[in-house]
Amino acid sequence: MLNIVLFGPPGAGKGTQSEKLIAKYQLEHISTGDLFRKHLGEGTDLGKLAKKYMDEGHLVPDEVVIGMVDDKIKSSTSAKGFILDGFPRTVAQAEALDGLLEDKDMGISGMIALDVPEEELKERIRQRGKTSGRVDDQDEEKINTRIRVYNDETLPVASYYDAQGKLSTIHGVGSIEEIFGNICEVIDNY
Ligand code: AMP
Repeated sequence: MLNIVLFGPPGAGKGTQSEKLIAKYQLEHISTGDLFRKHLGEGTDLGKLAKKYMDEGHLVPDEVVIGMVDDKIKSSTSAKGFILDGFPRTVAQAEALDGLLEDKDMGISGMIALDVPEEELKERIRQRGKTSGRVDDQDEEKINTRIRVYNDETLPVASYYDAQGKLSTIHGVGSIEEIFGNICEVIDNY
């Protein structure tokens, strides 16, 4: 199976590249941000809980996220693998993910990190905010909080996979096709 963690700060292009990777490699998409937004839209208890954190740009507590991913993996019918987008975002989540996959005799093939300078990220998020309708894309302070949370809590996850020899970093500025090509090159060498 091909289980890929697509990693990077908010605005790095994870969603865009995920869509293309899913089409090419027939993977199932697990985007925890999308899953939370779906719950939010449906007004579930989980959505209401997550909203408090999401609107401020903070992380939803680990146990909530891990439970949701566990359900998603269990209910999956895909034989080819997963693309994990926006998860894991803490080392505790990465450890829990390894445990969930091990239980199913699966593992992570590799992490692909998209590297984008901070000013470019902020500009992309501001632009996306004009059409995404996302509260967390529209406020300068919330954008800054999300990038700070990424640097403080999420970046250590890259070291976690690096220590396992599973980290590849791709320059995330350029045309979508060019970046996609570079990502595919890494995947085709797994
Ligand atoms: P995203 O669409 O990936 O930028 O996620 C939007 C928001 O959902 C984040 O700012 C967090 O509040 C929450 N979220 C998404 N994924 C996670 C995760 N793995 N851990 C904690 N919070 C998350």
